[in-house]
Amino acid sequence: MTLKYDVLIIGGGVVGCAVARELSRRRLRIILLEKSSDICAGQSRANTAIVHGGYDAEPGTLKAKYNVAGNTMFGRVCSELEVPYRRNGSLVVSFSESDDPKLGGLLARGEKNGVSGLSIIGAEEIRRREPHLSKAASKALLVESGGIVCPYGLTIAYAENAARNGVTFIRNAAVTGIKKWRDGWHISATAGDFTADAVVNCAGVHSDEINNMVSEEKFYITPRRGEYYIVDKKYTGYFNSAIFQLPTKMGKGILVAPTVDGTLLIGPTAEDIDEREDTRTTRFGLDKVLAGASISWEDIPTRAFITSFAGVRAHCDRDDFIIGEAPDAELFFNAGGVESPGLTSAPAIGCYLAELIAERLSAADNPCFDPTRRAIPSFREMTNVERARAIAANPDYAKVVCRCENVTEAEIRQAIRRPVGARTTDGVKLRVRAGMGRCQAGFCTPRTIGILCEELGLDPLEAAKSSGASRLLSHYLFEKEAKPHA
Ligand SMILES: Cc1cc2nc3c(=O)[nH]c(=O)nc-3n(C[C@H](O)[C@H](O)[C@H](O)COP(=O)(O)OP(=O)(O)OC[C@H]3O[C@@H](n4cnc5c(N)ncnc54)[C@H](O)[C@@H]3O)c2cc1C
Repeated sequence: MTLKYDVLIIGGGVVGCAVARELSRRRLRIILLEKSSDICAGQSRANTAIVHGGYDAEPGTLKAKYNVAGNTMFGRVCSELEVPYRRNGSLVVSFSESDDPKLGGLLARGEKNGVSGLSIIGAEEIRRREPHLSKAASKALLVESGGIVCPYGLTIAYAENAARNGVTFIRNAAVTGIKKWRDGWHISATAGDFTADAVVNCAGVHSDEINNMVSEEKFYITPRRGEYYIVDKKYTGYFNSAIFQLPTKMGKGILVAPTVDGTLLIGPTAEDIDEREDTRTTRFGLDKVLAGASISWEDIPTRAFITSFAGVRAHCDRDDFIIGEAPDAELFFNAGGVESPGLTSAPAIGCYLAELIAERLSAADNPCFDPTRRAIPSFREMTNVERARAIAANPDYAKVVCRCENVTEAEIRQAIRRPVGARTTDGVKLRVRAGMGRCQAGFCTPRTIGILCEELGLDPLEAAKSSGASRLLSHYLFEKEAKPHA
Protein backbone atom coordinates (compact mmCIF):
# COMPACT_ATOMS: atom_id res chain seq x y z
CA MET A 1 0.00 0.00 0.00
CA THR A 2 1.27 3.47 -0.89
CA LEU A 3 0.66 6.15 1.75
CA LYS A 4 -0.19 9.65 0.53
CA TYR A 5 1.07 12.88 2.11
CA ASP A 6 1.26 16.55 1.19
CA VAL A 7 4.90 16.90 2.24
CA LEU A 8 7.54 14.23 2.80
CA ILE A 9 10.75 15.25 4.59
CA ILE A 10 13.87 13.10 4.20
CA GLY A 11 16.18 13.17 7.25
CA GLY A 12 15.57 13.77 10.95
CA GLY A 13 18.53 16.02 11.78
CA VAL A 14 18.07 19.52 13.17
CA VAL A 15 17.19 20.91 9.75
CA GLY A 16 14.59 18.23 8.87
CA CYS A 17 13.00 18.52 12.32
CA ALA A 18 12.97 22.34 12.14
CA VAL A 19 11.29 22.18 8.72
CA ALA A 20 8.76 19.67 10.12
CA ARG A 21 7.94 21.90 13.09
CA GLU A 22 7.59 25.07 11.03
CA LEU A 23 5.46 23.27 8.42
CA SER A 24 3.16 21.97 11.15
CA ARG A 25 1.91 25.55 11.52
CA ARG A 26 -0.06 24.77 8.35
CA ARG A 27 -2.90 22.40 7.63
CA LEU A 28 -0.84 19.78 5.78
CA ARG A 29 -0.31 16.02 6.02
CA ILE A 30 3.41 15.80 6.74
CA ILE A 31 5.70 12.79 7.17
CA LEU A 32 9.40 12.65 8.05
CA LEU A 33 11.46 9.57 7.12
CA GLU A 34 14.71 8.90 8.97
CA LYS A 35 16.98 6.08 7.91
CA SER A 36 18.50 5.46 11.34
CA SER A 37 16.88 3.92 14.40
CA ASP A 38 16.48 7.40 15.88
CA ILE A 39 16.33 11.00 14.77
CA CYS A 40 19.46 13.11 15.29
CA ALA A 41 21.75 10.41 13.96
CA GLY A 42 24.06 12.52 11.77
CA GLN A 43 25.84 15.86 12.08
CA SER A 44 23.24 17.21 14.52
CA ARG A 45 24.31 14.65 17.10
CA ALA A 46 28.07 15.24 16.98
CA ASN A 47 29.20 18.84 16.53
CA THR A 48 30.64 21.75 18.52
CA ALA A 49 27.24 23.08 19.63
CA ILE A 50 28.14 26.72 18.98
CA VAL A 51 25.54 29.27 17.95
CA HIS A 52 27.86 31.23 15.69
CA GLY A 53 27.73 35.00 15.42
CA GLY A 54 28.28 34.99 11.66
CA TYR A 55 31.70 36.67 11.23
CA ASP A 56 33.24 33.71 9.41
CA ALA A 57 31.01 33.06 6.38
CA GLU A 58 31.80 34.74 3.05
CA PRO A 59 29.48 37.75 2.57
CA GLY A 60 26.71 37.11 0.06
CA THR A 61 26.62 33.35 0.68
CA LEU A 62 23.64 31.41 2.03
CA LYS A 63 25.86 30.40 4.95
CA ALA A 64 26.20 34.07 5.92
CA LYS A 65 22.51 34.83 5.39
CA TYR A 66 21.08 31.90 7.38
CA ASN A 67 23.75 32.07 10.09
CA VAL A 68 22.94 35.67 10.97
CA ALA A 69 19.17 35.16 10.68
CA GLY A 70 19.30 31.88 12.66
CA ASN A 71 21.40 33.37 15.46
CA THR A 72 18.77 36.02 16.20
CA MET A 73 16.05 33.35 16.48
CA PHE A 74 17.70 31.19 19.14
CA GLY A 75 16.38 33.01 22.20
CA ARG A 76 12.75 32.68 21.12
CA VAL A 77 12.96 29.13 19.73
CA CYS A 78 14.83 27.75 22.75
CA SER A 79 12.40 29.37 25.15
CA GLU A 80 9.34 28.04 23.27
CA LEU A 81 10.82 24.54 23.15
CA GLU A 82 12.60 24.62 26.56
CA VAL A 83 16.03 23.82 25.16
CA PRO A 84 19.24 24.71 27.06
CA TYR A 85 20.87 27.74 25.36
CA ARG A 86 23.30 30.35 26.65
CA ARG A 87 24.54 33.52 24.97
CA ASN A 88 28.05 33.39 26.42
CA GLY A 89 29.90 35.07 23.54
CA SER A 90 32.85 33.86 21.48
CA LEU A 91 36.45 35.01 21.27
CA VAL A 92 38.57 34.53 18.16
CA VAL A 93 42.07 34.79 19.55
CA SER A 94 45.33 35.79 17.92
CA PHE A 95 48.40 34.35 19.60
CA SER A 96 51.03 36.39 17.76
CA GLU A 97 51.21 40.06 16.89
CA SER A 98 51.82 39.19 13.24
CA ASP A 99 48.34 37.55 13.14
CA ASP A 100 46.57 40.47 14.86
CA PRO A 101 45.61 42.25 11.60
CA LYS A 102 43.63 39.15 10.50
CA LEU A 103 41.16 39.89 13.31
CA GLY A 104 40.33 43.22 11.66
CA GLY A 105 39.49 41.31 8.46
CA LEU A 106 37.11 39.04 10.38
CA LEU A 107 35.47 42.02 12.08
CA ALA A 108 34.94 43.76 8.73
CA ARG A 109 33.50 40.57 7.24
CA GLY A 110 31.18 40.11 10.21
CA GLU A 111 29.92 43.69 9.92
CA LYS A 112 29.31 43.16 6.20
CA ASN A 113 27.23 40.09 7.12
CA GLY A 114 25.16 42.24 9.50
CA VAL A 115 26.58 40.89 12.78
CA SER A 116 26.33 43.34 15.67
CA GLY A 117 28.31 43.32 18.93
CA LEU A 118 31.75 42.78 17.36
CA SER A 119 34.86 44.42 18.80
CA ILE A 120 38.59 43.82 19.11
CA ILE A 121 39.90 43.50 22.65
CA GLY A 122 43.48 43.56 23.95
CA ALA A 123 45.49 41.21 26.16
CA GLU A 124 44.37 42.76 29.45
CA GLU A 125 40.65 42.46 28.67
CA ILE A 126 41.18 38.90 27.37
CA ARG A 127 42.78 37.90 30.68
CA ARG A 128 40.01 39.56 32.66
CA ARG A 129 37.43 37.53 30.76
CA GLU A 130 39.38 34.28 30.44
CA PRO A 131 42.03 33.90 33.18
CA HIS A 132 42.90 30.34 32.06
CA LEU A 133 43.61 31.22 28.46
CA SER A 134 47.26 31.04 27.33
CA LYS A 135 49.24 34.16 28.25
CA ALA A 136 50.39 34.29 24.62
CA ALA A 137 46.95 35.63 23.61
CA SER A 138 47.62 39.10 22.24
CA LYS A 139 44.30 40.27 20.77
CA ALA A 140 40.84 38.81 20.18
CA LEU A 141 37.68 39.44 18.24
CA LEU A 142 34.84 39.49 20.75
CA VAL A 143 31.57 38.17 19.29
CA GLU A 144 28.88 39.08 21.78
CA SER A 145 26.12 37.28 19.86
CA GLY A 146 27.92 33.90 19.99
CA GLY A 147 26.25 31.24 22.11
CA ILE A 148 26.06 27.58 23.04
CA VAL A 149 23.10 25.21 22.75
CA CYS A 150 22.34 21.54 23.29
CA PRO A 151 22.24 20.36 19.63
CA TYR A 152 20.46 17.05 20.24
CA GLY A 153 18.15 18.77 22.74
CA LEU A 154 17.15 21.22 20.02
CA THR A 155 16.65 18.52 17.37
CA ILE A 156 14.57 16.32 19.67
CA ALA A 157 12.51 19.29 20.90
CA TYR A 158 11.74 20.33 17.32
CA ALA A 159 10.68 16.73 16.56
CA GLU A 160 8.50 16.38 19.68
CA ASN A 161 6.79 19.69 18.96
CA ALA A 162 6.25 18.76 15.30
CA ALA A 163 4.80 15.37 16.31
CA ARG A 164 2.43 17.00 18.82
CA ASN A 165 1.29 19.28 16.01
CA GLY A 166 0.49 16.32 13.75
CA VAL A 167 3.67 15.36 11.87
CA THR A 168 4.23 11.60 11.42
CA PHE A 169 7.80 10.34 12.06
CA ILE A 170 9.02 6.99 10.77
CA ARG A 171 12.46 5.76 11.81
CA ASN A 172 14.43 2.91 10.20
CA ALA A 173 13.08 4.32 6.92
CA ALA A 174 15.89 4.95 4.42
CA VAL A 175 14.76 6.59 1.18
CA THR A 176 16.09 4.50 -1.71
CA GLY A 177 14.34 6.02 -4.73
CA ILE A 178 12.32 9.08 -5.83
CA LYS A 179 10.35 9.33 -9.08
CA LYS A 180 7.99 11.87 -10.56
CA TRP A 181 4.39 10.72 -9.96
CA ARG A 182 1.40 12.62 -11.43
CA ASP A 183 1.77 16.18 -10.03
CA GLY A 184 4.03 15.07 -7.19
CA TRP A 185 6.54 12.40 -6.18
CA HIS A 186 6.68 8.66 -5.53
CA ILE A 187 9.16 7.80 -2.80
CA SER A 188 10.49 4.29 -2.12
CA ALA A 189 11.91 3.65 1.32
CA THR A 190 12.96 0.64 3.35
CA ALA A 191 9.78 1.20 5.41
CA GLY A 192 7.42 1.19 2.40
CA ASP A 193 6.25 3.35 -0.50
CA PHE A 194 4.88 6.88 -0.20
CA THR A 195 3.55 9.61 -2.45
CA ALA A 196 3.75 13.29 -1.68
CA ASP A 197 3.04 16.56 -3.45
CA ALA A 198 6.31 17.99 -2.19
CA VAL A 199 9.59 16.44 -1.02
CA VAL A 200 12.20 18.14 1.21
CA ASN A 201 15.73 16.79 1.12
CA CYS A 202 17.40 17.24 4.54
CA ALA A 203 19.63 14.18 4.30
CA GLY A 204 22.89 15.70 5.57
CA VAL A 205 25.96 13.85 4.26
CA HIS A 206 23.63 11.98 1.88
CA SER A 207 21.84 15.08 0.58
CA ASP A 208 23.76 14.94 -2.72
CA GLU A 209 22.61 11.34 -3.35
CA ILE A 210 18.96 12.35 -2.80
CA ASN A 211 19.20 15.49 -4.98
CA ASN A 212 21.07 13.65 -7.73
CA MET A 213 18.23 11.06 -7.97
CA VAL A 214 15.89 13.78 -9.32
CA SER A 215 17.82 16.82 -10.51
CA GLU A 216 20.35 17.45 -13.24
CA GLU A 217 21.70 20.34 -11.10
CA LYS A 218 23.97 17.90 -9.33
CA PHE A 219 26.20 18.56 -6.34
CA TYR A 220 28.60 16.36 -4.44
CA ILE A 221 29.40 15.98 -0.75
CA THR A 222 32.85 15.25 0.65
CA PRO A 223 32.56 13.85 4.18
CA ARG A 224 34.81 15.88 6.48
CA ARG A 225 35.40 14.38 9.90
CA GLY A 226 35.97 16.31 13.11
CA GLU A 227 37.27 14.65 16.29
CA TYR A 228 36.88 15.88 19.87
CA TYR A 229 37.66 15.26 23.52
CA ILE A 230 35.17 16.02 26.30
CA VAL A 231 36.56 17.39 29.58
CA ASP A 232 34.91 16.46 32.88
CA LYS A 233 32.55 18.83 34.72
CA LYS A 234 35.30 19.32 37.29
CA TYR A 235 36.38 22.11 34.93
CA THR A 236 32.96 23.78 34.70
CA GLY A 237 33.46 27.53 34.42
CA TYR A 238 37.15 27.22 33.49
CA PHE A 239 36.36 29.03 30.24
CA ASN A 240 33.40 31.36 29.92
CA SER A 241 33.20 31.90 26.15
CA ALA A 242 33.95 29.66 23.18
CA ILE A 243 37.65 30.20 22.44
CA PHE A 244 38.42 30.04 18.71
CA GLN A 245 41.75 30.33 16.96
CA LEU A 246 42.01 32.04 13.59
CA PRO A 247 40.01 30.14 10.92
CA THR A 248 41.65 28.32 8.01
CA LYS A 249 40.26 27.21 4.65
CA MET A 250 39.31 23.84 6.24
CA GLY A 251 37.12 25.46 8.87
CA LYS A 252 37.03 27.38 12.10
CA GLY A 253 39.97 25.54 13.65
CA ILE A 254 40.39 23.85 17.01
CA LEU A 255 38.58 25.49 19.89
CA VAL A 256 37.97 25.13 23.58
CA ALA A 257 34.34 25.70 24.48
CA PRO A 258 32.02 25.23 27.42
CA THR A 259 28.87 23.17 26.82
CA VAL A 260 25.44 23.93 28.27
CA ASP A 261 25.86 20.81 30.42
CA GLY A 262 28.98 22.03 32.20
CA THR A 263 31.61 19.95 30.40
CA LEU A 264 34.21 21.46 28.05
CA LEU A 265 34.68 20.46 24.42
CA ILE A 266 38.03 20.59 22.68
CA GLY A 267 38.28 20.04 18.93
CA PRO A 268 37.41 19.50 16.12
CA THR A 269 39.87 18.37 13.49
CA ALA A 270 38.93 18.66 9.81
CA GLU A 271 39.88 15.63 7.73
CA ASP A 272 38.34 14.64 4.39
CA ILE A 273 37.44 10.95 4.45
CA ASP A 274 35.92 8.39 2.04
CA GLU A 275 33.21 6.83 4.17
CA ARG A 276 30.26 9.15 4.89
CA GLU A 277 29.41 7.72 8.28
CA ASP A 278 32.86 6.95 9.59
CA THR A 279 32.62 8.50 13.05
CA ARG A 280 35.61 6.65 14.46
CA THR A 281 38.11 8.61 16.48
CA THR A 282 41.79 8.05 15.66
CA ARG A 283 45.08 8.43 17.51
CA PHE A 284 46.23 10.77 14.75
CA GLY A 285 43.14 12.97 15.00
CA LEU A 286 43.06 13.14 18.79
CA ASP A 287 46.76 14.00 18.94
CA LYS A 288 46.01 16.88 16.59
CA VAL A 289 43.17 18.02 18.86
CA LEU A 290 45.48 18.03 21.85
CA ALA A 291 48.29 19.84 20.04
CA GLY A 292 45.91 22.45 18.59
CA ALA A 293 43.97 23.08 21.79
CA SER A 294 47.21 23.40 23.81
CA ILE A 295 47.82 26.70 22.03
CA SER A 296 44.76 28.14 23.80
CA TRP A 297 44.90 26.06 27.00
CA GLU A 298 48.53 25.37 27.85
CA ASP A 299 48.16 22.85 30.66
CA ILE A 300 45.17 20.81 29.50
CA PRO A 301 44.36 18.24 32.20
CA THR A 302 44.32 15.13 29.98
CA ARG A 303 43.31 12.96 32.94
CA ALA A 304 40.02 14.86 32.99
CA PHE A 305 39.05 13.68 29.50
CA ILE A 306 35.93 11.55 29.92
CA THR A 307 35.51 10.48 26.32
CA SER A 308 36.21 11.29 22.69
CA PHE A 309 33.88 11.36 19.70
CA ALA A 310 33.71 12.39 16.04
CA GLY A 311 31.16 13.95 13.71
CA VAL A 312 31.17 14.07 9.91
CA ARG A 313 30.44 17.35 8.11
CA ALA A 314 28.52 17.45 4.81
CA HIS A 315 31.05 19.54 2.89
CA CYS A 316 29.59 20.48 -0.49
CA ASP A 317 31.60 21.06 -3.69
CA ARG A 318 29.75 24.39 -4.11
CA ASP A 319 31.17 25.47 -0.74
CA ASP A 320 27.78 26.81 0.32
CA PHE A 321 24.38 25.61 1.49
CA ILE A 322 21.90 24.61 -1.23
CA ILE A 323 18.51 25.81 -0.05
CA GLY A 324 15.28 25.99 -2.05
CA GLU A 325 13.34 24.37 -4.88
CA ALA A 326 15.52 22.53 -7.41
CA PRO A 327 15.35 24.51 -10.66
CA ASP A 328 14.45 21.44 -12.76
CA ALA A 329 12.32 19.44 -10.28
CA GLU A 330 9.05 21.09 -9.33
CA LEU A 331 8.12 20.80 -5.63
CA PHE A 332 11.41 19.10 -4.76
CA PHE A 333 13.19 21.22 -2.14
CA ASN A 334 16.79 20.97 -0.93
CA ALA A 335 18.47 21.75 2.35
CA GLY A 336 21.69 20.26 1.02
CA GLY A 337 25.34 20.59 2.01
CA VAL A 338 24.34 22.05 5.36
CA GLU A 339 27.65 21.90 7.21
CA SER A 340 28.73 24.46 9.82
CA PRO A 341 27.12 26.92 10.59
CA GLY A 342 24.13 24.67 9.94
CA LEU A 343 23.10 24.20 13.55
CA THR A 344 22.95 27.99 13.98
CA SER A 345 21.14 28.34 10.66
CA ALA A 346 18.54 25.60 11.24
CA PRO A 347 15.79 27.81 12.72
CA ALA A 348 16.04 30.23 9.78
CA ILE A 349 16.28 27.47 7.14
CA GLY A 350 13.27 25.76 8.74
CA CYS A 351 11.15 28.92 8.57
CA TYR A 352 12.24 29.82 5.06
CA LEU A 353 11.53 26.39 3.55
CA ALA A 354 8.25 25.98 5.42
CA GLU A 355 6.99 29.37 4.17
CA LEU A 356 8.06 28.57 0.61
CA ILE A 357 6.43 25.14 0.59
CA ALA A 358 3.23 26.37 2.25
CA GLU A 359 2.94 29.10 -0.36
CA ARG A 360 3.58 26.69 -3.26
CA LEU A 361 0.91 24.31 -1.88
CA SER A 362 -1.49 27.16 -0.93
CA ALA A 363 -1.71 25.67 2.56
CA ALA A 364 -4.03 27.19 5.17
CA ASP A 365 -2.97 27.83 8.78
CA ASN A 366 -3.23 25.00 11.31
CA PRO A 367 -5.61 26.47 13.92
CA CYS A 368 -4.46 23.89 16.50
CA PHE A 369 -0.71 24.67 16.20
CA ASP A 370 0.96 24.97 19.62
CA PRO A 371 4.50 26.42 19.49
CA THR A 372 5.41 25.26 23.00
CA ARG A 373 7.01 22.08 24.23
CA ARG A 374 7.81 21.23 27.85
CA ALA A 375 11.19 19.67 28.66
CA ILE A 376 11.35 16.55 30.84
CA PRO A 377 11.77 17.90 34.41
CA SER A 378 15.36 17.15 35.36
CA PHE A 379 16.05 15.81 38.88
CA ARG A 380 19.64 17.09 38.56
CA GLU A 381 18.45 20.67 38.23
CA MET A 382 15.78 20.61 40.97
CA THR A 383 16.10 22.14 44.42
CA ASN A 384 15.52 19.79 47.36
CA VAL A 385 11.98 21.13 47.76
CA GLU A 386 11.28 20.51 44.07
CA ARG A 387 12.74 17.01 44.36
CA ALA A 388 10.47 16.15 47.28
CA ARG A 389 7.49 17.42 45.30
CA ALA A 390 8.51 15.47 42.18
CA ILE A 391 8.94 12.24 44.18
CA ALA A 392 5.54 12.70 45.87
CA ALA A 393 3.92 13.05 42.45
CA ASN A 394 5.94 10.24 40.84
CA PRO A 395 7.92 7.83 43.07
CA ASP A 396 10.16 6.91 40.11
CA TYR A 397 11.88 10.26 40.70
CA ALA A 398 13.34 8.67 43.85
CA LYS A 399 15.18 5.99 41.82
CA VAL A 400 18.48 7.38 40.53
CA VAL A 401 19.68 5.29 37.59
CA CYS A 402 22.62 7.34 36.26
CA ARG A 403 24.71 8.40 39.26
CA CYS A 404 27.12 10.63 37.35
CA GLU A 405 24.39 12.81 35.87
CA ASN A 406 21.73 12.22 38.54
CA VAL A 407 19.13 10.88 36.12
CA THR A 408 16.14 9.07 37.56
CA GLU A 409 13.92 6.26 36.36
CA ALA A 410 11.06 8.77 35.99
CA GLU A 411 13.03 10.78 33.41
CA ILE A 412 14.07 7.68 31.46
CA ARG A 413 10.47 6.43 31.28
CA GLN A 414 9.31 9.85 30.05
CA ALA A 415 12.08 9.87 27.40
CA ILE A 416 10.72 6.59 26.06
CA ARG A 417 7.02 7.50 26.29
CA ARG A 418 7.26 10.90 24.59
CA PRO A 419 6.34 11.37 20.92
CA VAL A 420 9.30 10.21 18.76
CA GLY A 421 10.59 8.68 22.01
CA ALA A 422 13.81 6.81 22.77
CA ARG A 423 14.09 3.23 21.51
CA THR A 424 17.75 2.55 22.40
CA THR A 425 20.19 3.35 25.21
CA ASP A 426 21.73 6.08 23.04
CA GLY A 427 18.24 7.48 22.49
CA VAL A 428 17.78 7.68 26.27
CA LYS A 429 21.22 9.27 26.62
CA LEU A 430 20.47 12.04 24.11
CA ARG A 431 17.13 12.85 25.75
CA VAL A 432 18.03 12.83 29.47
CA ARG A 433 21.85 12.42 29.68
CA ALA A 434 21.77 8.96 31.34
CA GLY A 435 25.22 7.57 30.47
CA MET A 436 26.80 10.88 29.45
CA GLY A 437 28.76 11.44 32.63
CA ARG A 438 32.16 10.48 33.93
CA CYS A 439 31.63 6.69 33.92
CA GLN A 440 30.22 6.80 30.36
CA ALA A 441 27.29 4.46 31.07
CA GLY A 442 29.40 1.89 32.95
CA PHE A 443 26.90 1.71 35.82
CA CYS A 444 23.52 2.65 34.38
CA THR A 445 23.37 0.61 31.17
CA PRO A 446 21.87 -2.59 32.72
CA ARG A 447 19.02 -0.68 34.41
CA THR A 448 18.42 1.46 31.31
CA ILE A 449 18.12 -1.76 29.27
CA GLY A 450 15.66 -3.09 31.86
CA ILE A 451 13.48 0.03 31.61
CA LEU A 452 13.57 0.00 27.80
CA CYS A 453 12.45 -3.64 27.85
CA GLU A 454 9.61 -2.94 30.31
CA GLU A 455 8.36 0.10 28.40
CA LEU A 456 8.68 -1.32 24.87
CA GLY A 457 7.98 -5.01 25.56
CA LEU A 458 11.43 -5.99 24.26
CA ASP A 459 13.34 -9.14 25.04
CA PRO A 460 16.68 -8.05 26.64
CA LEU A 461 18.54 -9.60 23.70
CA GLU A 462 16.73 -7.12 21.41
CA ALA A 463 17.93 -4.04 23.33
CA ALA A 464 20.31 -1.97 21.23
CA LYS A 465 22.79 0.82 21.81
CA SER A 466 21.88 2.73 18.66
CA SER A 467 20.84 0.76 15.59
CA GLY A 468 19.49 -2.78 15.31
CA ALA A 469 22.98 -4.16 14.74
CA SER A 470 24.38 -2.75 17.97
CA ARG A 471 22.79 -5.26 20.35
CA LEU A 472 24.01 -4.87 23.92
CA LEU A 473 23.54 -8.46 25.14
CA SER A 474 24.54 -11.54 23.19
CA HIS A 475 22.95 -14.48 25.06
CA TYR A 476 21.44 -15.69 28.33
CA LEU A 477 23.83 -17.30 30.81
CA PHE A 478 20.91 -19.45 31.98
CA GLU A 479 17.73 -20.67 30.29
CA LYS A 480 15.38 -17.70 30.14
CA GLU A 481 12.71 -19.13 32.48
CA ALA A 482 15.14 -20.92 34.80
CA LYS A 483 15.77 -19.61 38.32
CA PRO A 484 19.54 -20.21 38.74
CA HIS A 485 19.66 -19.82 42.53
CA ALA A 486 16.37 -21.62 43.37
C1 LIG B 1 32.30 18.24 13.48
C2 LIG B 1 31.17 19.21 13.28
C3 LIG B 1 31.13 20.42 13.99
C4 LIG B 1 30.09 21.32 13.79
N1 LIG B 1 29.98 22.42 14.58
C5 LIG B 1 28.96 23.28 14.42
C6 LIG B 1 28.79 24.38 15.29
O1 LIG B 1 29.48 24.53 16.28
N2 LIG B 1 27.78 25.26 15.00
C7 LIG B 1 26.98 25.13 13.92
O2 LIG B 1 26.14 25.99 13.68
N3 LIG B 1 27.07 24.04 13.12
C8 LIG B 1 28.02 23.11 13.36
N4 LIG B 1 28.13 22.00 12.58
C9 LIG B 1 27.17 21.82 11.49
C10 LIG B 1 25.85 21.28 11.98
O3 LIG B 1 26.03 20.24 12.90
C11 LIG B 1 25.08 20.77 10.75
O4 LIG B 1 25.09 21.75 9.77
C12 LIG B 1 23.65 20.43 11.07
O5 LIG B 1 23.58 19.54 12.15
C13 LIG B 1 23.03 19.81 9.82
O6 LIG B 1 21.78 19.28 10.12
P1 LIG B 1 21.03 18.42 9.01
O7 LIG B 1 19.71 18.13 9.56
O8 LIG B 1 21.14 19.12 7.69
O9 LIG B 1 21.91 17.12 8.83
P2 LIG B 1 22.09 15.84 9.77
O10 LIG B 1 22.07 16.19 11.19
O11 LIG B 1 23.30 15.14 9.26
O12 LIG B 1 20.79 14.99 9.49
C14 LIG B 1 20.57 14.30 8.30
C15 LIG B 1 19.71 13.11 8.61
O13 LIG B 1 19.30 12.50 7.39
C16 LIG B 1 19.29 11.10 7.57
N5 LIG B 1 19.37 10.49 6.24
C17 LIG B 1 20.42 10.47 5.39
N6 LIG B 1 20.13 9.81 4.27
C18 LIG B 1 18.84 9.40 4.40
C19 LIG B 1 17.95 8.64 3.57
N7 LIG B 1 18.34 8.16 2.39
N8 LIG B 1 16.70 8.38 4.02
C20 LIG B 1 16.28 8.86 5.23
N9 LIG B 1 17.10 9.56 6.06
C21 LIG B 1 18.35 9.83 5.65
C22 LIG B 1 20.52 10.86 8.44
O14 LIG B 1 20.47 9.60 9.10
C23 LIG B 1 20.46 12.03 9.39
O15 LIG B 1 19.74 11.73 10.58
C24 LIG B 1 29.12 21.05 12.81
C25 LIG B 1 29.14 19.81 12.13
C26 LIG B 1 30.12 18.90 12.40
C27 LIG B 1 30.06 17.55 11.75
